[in-house]
Amino acid sequence: MGGGRIAIVGAGMAGLTCATALELAAAELTVFEAGFQPGGRMACQRQDGYEFDSGLPYFSAADERFRLALDHWREEGLVAAWEGWFVDLEHGNFLRREQAAPWFVGLPNMAALARHLASLCRVECGVRVARLERLESGWGLSDAAGRSLGAFDQVLLALPPGPAGALLSGVHDAWAERLGACADTRTWVLMLGFDRRQDLFFDAAYVSDSPINWMARNNSKPGRGGRESWVLEATPEWTRRFAHLAPEEVGARLFRAMQEAAGTRLDAPEVRVLRAWAPGRAIGVLGEPCLYDAERGLGLCGDWCLGTTVEAAFLSGLALGEAVTETCLA
Ligand SMILES: Cc1cc2nc3c(=O)[nH]c(=O)nc-3n(C[C@H](O)[C@H](O)[C@H](O)COP(=O)(O)OP(=O)(O)OC[C@H]3O[C@@H](n4cnc5c(N)ncnc54)[C@H](O)[C@@H]3O)c2cc1C
Repeated sequence: MGGGRIAIVGAGMAGLTCATALELAAAELTVFEAGFQPGGRMACQRQDGYEFDSGLPYFSAADERFRLALDHWREEGLVAAWEGWFVDLEHGNFLRREQAAPWFVGLPNMAALARHLASLCRVECGVRVARLERLESGWGLSDAAGRSLGAFDQVLLALPPGPAGALLSGVHDAWAERLGACADTRTWVLMLGFDRRQDLFFDAAYVSDSPINWMARNNSKPGRGGRESWVLEATPEWTRRFAHLAPEEVGARLFRAMQEAAGTRLDAPEVRVLRAWAPGRAIGVLGEPCLYDAERGLGLCGDWCLGTTVEAAFLSGLALGEAVTETCLA
């Protein structure tokens, strides 16, 4: 029987890792995902023949367990190293960036890795969980229209602090309070498609003294199409300061900032798409891999437990999956 009926809420890296770690322990496991695709911030966006990694642009691997998973994904052709020209940039001056560790990307885009993980478990997309309630035995979940999504022995929230706190309020106030201290940020991402290669010699740049945090030539990543596509992430400070601007104005300002940082004039882009990520990157960190209350059958995981990266999300999801498995099989 194992862990009985388990629901995981959220199909980002944390939720999908937790689900795949739990597959054997759960009698029945369902992952509910609000978006129409799994992956959360591991996302890809297409527009008029251009393709962009619209969230997570690349990742590195420090922890041995994440490196093992990465080796496996590389063997399966789901991930590859990105051998580009990476620089630090300030007002047109650049410095070649010393890479402490290789950068990796999903193949053929960042969302593909999430789709693969989602294919290993049962994921219901397009379902936003709006309510978590204690039943006589276990938990009930329902959506915003009040429709029941079922009764579960265990509910594991693989969500950013904001949505997790909203579900836990009045249900587990001690955790809801801890989540309140783990803030996250909003971040603008601008995607640009050009009808020809732009005169920029680098493939990715960390930018100083600019509204832009980093920018990357998406089509220089392995396995991408050939069309010239750039992705820029605004700094959280700039995003907060100019939150009131209309999207067209944000796009225009970031494009100007890109040219200023690169010290060159660029063609007018054929495609310009702006996306606001909320959350963008976690900023408050819980300092524990996950939270699990075996008695109540309630758990929490997400990047914000350990850091601000997809590696942190993986390790948090894995830790929660292992904690539940150990308890269920004990
Ligand atoms: C612009 C940007 C740049 C980044 N750069 C890097 C980088 O360079 N390197 C790096 O390692 N990381 C980077 N990150 C961070 C990385 O993407 C995240 O750390 C990681 O993807 C978080 O995974 P997660 O599963 O914890 O959360 P998420 O990916 O946010 O997953 C949570 C999921 O829960 C779903 N959800 C929310 N509420 C509900 C609900 N009520 N019901 C059902 N589902 C719900 C969401 O739709 C989402 O799919 C970046 C992120 C962004 C946005």
